[in-house]
Amino acid sequence: MEENLQPSSPEQSGTETVPTVGEVLLAIEELWPESLAEGWDAVGLVAGRADVEVSRILFAVDPTSEVLDEALAWGAQLIISHHPLLLKPVNSVAATGPKGEVLHRLIESGCALATVHTNGDSAVGGVSDVLADAFGLSEVKPLVRSQDGLPEEGIGRVGNLPDATTLADFAESVFSILPSVAGGVRVAGDKDGLIRRVAVCGGAGDSLFDAVRASQADVFVTADLRHHPASEARERAAGGRPYLIDVSHFGSEWLWLTPAAAALGNVLTDQGFLTDIRVSSVNTDPWDFVLTPGHA
Ligand SMILES: [Zn+2]
Repeated sequence: MEENLQPSSPEQSGTETVPTVGEVLLAIEELWPESLAEGWDAVGLVAGRADVEVSRILFAVDPTSEVLDEALAWGAQLIISHHPLLLKPVNSVAATGPKGEVLHRLIESGCALATVHTNGDSAVGGVSDVLADAFGLSEVKPLVRSQDGLPEEGIGRVGNLPDATTLADFAESVFSILPSVAGGVRVAGDKDGLIRRVAVCGGAGDSLFDAVRASQADVFVTADLRHHPASEARERAAGGRPYLIDVSHFGSEWLWLTPAAAALGNVLTDQGFLTDIRVSSVNTDPWDFVLTPGHA
């Protein structure tokens, strides 16, 4: 029969075993310890049983219903999302609301959900490290050091480009590195202004302006820059540095998923486990189109 001609799968022929949810959680703790999470955060296992075997893991930024569709269609037994499904306390997980519906579908399908949020931001190789690396920064250090971590762990990163470049050229580079989303990239500052020292923070970073100024950064790349913090920062800079580059929150964190998946795969492989790990292909940026002056 034709299927007998197929090579046997590693599960059948190798010595590797499939990890349980609990064993994946131990690997997660090794890479992104819970002690690095901010006090207000909610990380770790959200739904699922520790003794269930996991042969397929899907990484995603957001645990949306569309991501869940993708996970279940692929046969994943675990989703690792960056954003928590439940950050604020709840009184009900009834399926009458979107979060309860996701929880019901997870449990009914036997798919677990775990969150790696600010612990993933802060850790070495975390979200902002990946951004710094993608932008070509060197001599990288945290904008705000973690209280409980190593000197290289903490929120945001600051480092230097190999050469001074114009704000316009750097913004173009940021645009080309991040995934394509409807909102694009917004920039505040002189197009021809030269920059070399770059501060980055994946996700919403507008609470970090004091640290950005203290770091002597020429430009700050982050997401979700609201009017007042951005406006006040530009006033303080009197039109000069630090310039601002506002990117998609989703996009700034999405870049981390592939190296995170690879890092988890390496830890599990080193422990003799066999799992298939994928990054979600769903764009969970909430915006669909944008109008700018001069649009047709
Ligand atoms: Zn985020």
